[in-house]
Formats: sequence, structure tokens, C-alpha cells
Amino acid sequence: MNTTWRLARRPLEGWPSEGDFHLADERIPDVSENQFLTQTIYISLDPYQWGRRRSGTERVGDVCHSRTVSRVVQSRHPDYREGDFVFNTNGWCEFGLSGEGIDEFGYMHTRKLDPSVAPISTALGVLGMLGLTAYSGLVTQCKPNPGETVVVSAASGGVGQVACQLASIYGCRTVGIASTKEKCDFLKDEIGVDESVSHLDGSFEDSLKRACPDGVDVYFENVGGKVYEAVLPLLNGGARVTQCGMISYYGDTSGADPAERWYAIGRRHFERANVSIFPLFVGNYVDAHQDEFLEKMKQWLTDGKMVYKEHIWEGIEIVPQAFAEMLRGRNFGKSLVRIGDDPARNGG
Ligand code: NDP
Repeated sequence: MNTTWRLARRPLEGWPSEGDFHLADERIPDVSENQFLTQTIYISLDPYQWGRRRSGTERVGDVCHSRTVSRVVQSRHPDYREGDFVFNTNGWCEFGLSGEGIDEFGYMHTRKLDPSVAPISTALGVLGMLGLTAYSGLVTQCKPNPGETVVVSAASGGVGQVACQLASIYGCRTVGIASTKEKCDFLKDEIGVDESVSHLDGSFEDSLKRACPDGVDVYFENVGGKVYEAVLPLLNGGARVTQCGMISYYGDTSGADPAERWYAIGRRHFERANVSIFPLFVGNYVDAHQDEFLEKMKQWLTDGKMVYKEHIWEGIEIVPQAFAEMLRGRNFGKSLVRIGDDPARNGG
């Protein structure tokens, strides 16, 4: 059987709640000519998936969308053989079809993975959309210069930890913002930021100011809210801001447009300091930058200049709960659920 999570209703609350998702045992699909069947190993949990559900892009009854890493278990496609590992878009289910006639979601297409290059899970993280997001925002949009101060919010998360390390690779002074002491210590000890600051700290604004004695030249925005408001007065003349995400607004039920609200809060600082704002949608960077990014990232991983942390939940039953925890910041690193055997991790 094919254990599958489908959207049970258009979400009613700001954050996921019981009853939003429905679990069913379904038939494993038949494989037609030029198609192949894959068994899901890793499901990627990403904040944008909540936006699709709340907005109605994902419809009631649909298989819950997500990027996946899978193994080919049956193939009638000339380019894919049984046993191949692939990046694809099975969603929250155990088996999915790829190939001809499959309506893939969006801009990142099914591709074969070479497990000798890097662990297969990285196709959903540092060597996938998250890595490319950090690269596009920090390097391509903000063009950091050596010696500049770069501040990254949600810095221990999937995108944030890559953005921090890229800033260091490009010679910047890097300041990461996260919640718990454990996350802040990780940023200093393993990610190598110059300073880490907790947004839970009662004197957060002062701590951030002390961590940025020369102001802020580049801000990599992942959260919005009070973190963003603390960064605004520190922006230097000519600063650049990547508007990557605003996770603190994703549960908002007021109906306000998050991007408009975000811009309105920052407007006077943007005008004061002549700040350049770069809205980011990673899909716009795949065609022009993915190959260059993958080449560089593989080298940085090989050279030990880039490390990464994954938060891996186990088992398909837990997916909605893990998704809700990730949205509430209870993940520590790139959020994944493992539902199949990864031979590199368990010899399976
Ligand atoms: P993360 O792994 O960073 O997980 C989210 C983190 O956000 C949490 O761990 C938590 O970290 C932090 N967080 C959650 N709520 C709040 C809050 N209210 N205030 C402050 N921090 C909060 O997720 P991703 O790496 O997958 O995504 C990071 C951002 O990048 C998201 O906003 C996402 O939407 C965006 N994104 C944008 C893309 C684009 O094309 N523009 C593509 C991909 C992602 P902590 O515990 O430290 O607070």
C-alpha cells in the first residue's frame, strides 16, 4: 500500500492544527511507458508549503506537496534504472510516479543523484533549493564585500546556516540571530559566525547593536517581526537587504499582505539609508545560477568550508506534527522526515 497524507480542508487556523491533514492507505500507482516509480526516502518540510495550503494553491484532497529524495523501485523510462536515487516531488507519500505525463510542481525538476558526491539528503538542503536560495540572495543579489557586516536571521535554519557561511567565505563579518542558547552556540562553534545573538534575550536590541559596532551592510531577512525591527535602525548607508522570507507573519490571520506590511515598517529606514531591497524567489535563479552554484557548493563541502545541520524526524505518521513544529521554530537545521531506508545512514 501507499501511505499518503492529503489535505483534508483549507486550513482554518493561522498554524497547522489537527484535522488539516488526512492519512490514507492507497494503491501504489501503475507505471506507464516512459515513467518510473519511486519510493520516498526523505520528505522536505519547508515554510512555503504552509503558504500553498492557506492560499488554496494546494486544494482539498490533493496529496500534500513536498520535494523528496527517493529511490527508483520500478522503471519503464530509458534514463532511470531500479536502484537509482533521485530528487523529485512525491509529496507526503511513500510511493510516487515520475516521468512522462506527470505534472511536476514548478521550477525544480526530477534529477538523478550521485550518492558518492554527498549524502542524498543534501539534495533537499545545502545542495538543493535551500542552498541556492542562500546563494541567490546573499551572493547574487547583495554582492557582499570583504569587511562588511552581514546579519542573518533564522541563522541556524536550513537557509540561514548556508547564508552565514557564504558571508564568511566572502570575507564578511557575520552576525547570526537565532532563538535558543544551543542554536546560538552552534552558530559560533560550528558555523563560524563572528557573533550570535538570541532574539529571546530580554535586551535583544542592545545585544544586536553591540554585535554590530560598525552597523549593518547586508541583512538576509528570513523572519520579519521584532527581529527585523531591531535590524532596521542599524542599516548603514547603501545597505542591501534580501527579502527571502517572513516566517513570523506566516500564521497571521489579519488578511494583511505580509510583504506590504514588511515594507511599510521599514520604509523610513530604507529612505534614510538609501537601502536596496531585493525580493527573492529562488525559482527565478534556477536556470541562470543553479549549475554555477552546485559546482561551487560541492567544492566548499569538499574543502570543509561549508558544514550543515539537518533535523530529521522519523516515520510517515509524524509528518504533519513535524511540519507544525518546524513552523514554530522547533527544528534545528534543515527539516526532513525520513520515511525510507537511506543506505548511507543505516546500511539498509
Ligand atoms: P528554517 O530551517 O530556518 O526554519 C524556520 C526557523 O525560523 C525556525 O527554526 C526559527 O528559528 C525561525 N522562526 C520561526 N518563527 C519565528 C519567529 N516568530 N521569529 C523569529 N524566528 C522565527 O526554515 P527554512 O530555512 O526552510 O526557511 C527560512 C526562510 O527562507 C523562510 O522564511 C522561508 O519562507 C524562506 N525561503 C524563501 C525562499 C525564496 O525563494 N524566497 C525559498 C526557501 C525558503 P529560531 O528558533 O532560531 O527562531
